[in-house]
Amino acid sequence: MTEILDCLVIGGGPAGLTAAVYLARYHLRVTVVDAGGSRAALIPCSRNIPGFPDGVSGPEFLHRMRRQAEAYGAHIEPGRVHRLGRGERFFTAEYDDVAVAAKTVLLATGVTNRRPEMASDVHDAALQAGRLRYCPVCDGFEVTDQRVAVIGSGDHGVREAVFLRAFTADVTLIANGDRHDLDSAQRQQLESIGVAVVDGPVANFHLTEAGLAFDCAGGAVRFDAVYPTLGSDVHSPLAAALEADLTAEGCIKVDAHQRTSQPGLFGAGDVVIGLDQISHACGEAGVAATTIRNDLAADRPLLRSPRRRAIPLS
Ligand SMILES: Cc1cc2nc3c(=O)[nH]c(=O)nc-3n(C[C@H](O)[C@H](O)[C@H](O)COP(=O)(O)OP(=O)(O)OC[C@H]3O[C@@H](n4cnc5c(N)ncnc54)[C@H](O)[C@@H]3O)c2cc1C
Repeated sequence: MTEILDCLVIGGGPAGLTAAVYLARYHLRVTVVDAGGSRAALIPCSRNIPGFPDGVSGPEFLHRMRRQAEAYGAHIEPGRVHRLGRGERFFTAEYDDVAVAAKTVLLATGVTNRRPEMASDVHDAALQAGRLRYCPVCDGFEVTDQRVAVIGSGDHGVREAVFLRAFTADVTLIANGDRHDLDSAQRQQLESIGVAVVDGPVANFHLTEAGLAFDCAGGAVRFDAVYPTLGSDVHSPLAAALEADLTAEGCIKVDAHQRTSQPGLFGAGDVVIGLDQISHACGEAGVAATTIRNDLAADRPLLRSPRRRAIPLS
């Protein structure tokens, strides 16, 4: 352990990298440790990120953000933080066989979408082809007037089907268990807006020229685009280990300045309850970074040393 960081950022997706840009530009010592599983890396082409009128792929966007953070002196290290603790004055963290200490920590560890059971090569190819999608807020526009299926059950599946109905008249809810997952009010609601309901479970996914095909209880089906709504796993165990407050879903609770219930510990991005969008993750990270800067300055004023001047040669 060589130096004490002003902030350790755990997670190098859009939230963590935005925070790194801000913190480095406040002349603070910041390291980002990233396990390399950003949800943004799965985006074939996003068309709702401000400033990219022709769209941008997730990997390209992350590459630009990393370049921007490093240009101002942020360090970005690959690794998965497996332990986060708190000593008398500093946080301590371990990843691989490295130990670091930091005055503050920002958790920007994101979530992972649960996938339907399908071979990972089929999954990845379907995602790249725009046949499998996870986020109608992100890309509902792209399925305008297409044949769309939602795989899910209960409230969540119904809400997603209703949301997508604003983009296309052809929406089918594949009730993941079976249609009895839905109560009569839900079935009536779906029927009244023309959403078909088909019994699951689903199996045997394969990608064709014309869409994503799979088997349901009643036989083979095929859709232009399929949205699974099977929930997500929230990466909040490090927050839980420090006894920060979590929601019932496991998201980190924060105040309006992104402070968790534990002093010096902050959260931003998908791991915090919110819109689960890049613009939102970046906004929260900017707020978190500025709060971190101001909290550090409240403990001890952040004063820059006078610039060393070159001695003029006579
Ligand atoms: C297919 C798809 C398409 C999408 N399209 C869009 C879109 O068009 N527009 C949009 O706004 N949003 C889109 N999203 C959502 C967007 O990707 C997320 O909202 C965004 O990536 C959240 O950023 P984040 O930094 O909070 O989390 P993430 O980007 O998920 O990054 C979290 C990072 O933390 C790392 N991590 C986790 N635990 C640890 C640990 N213990 N130690 C170190 N690192 C750790 C992870 O490996 C990961 O790299 C899409 C998502 C998907 C899946």
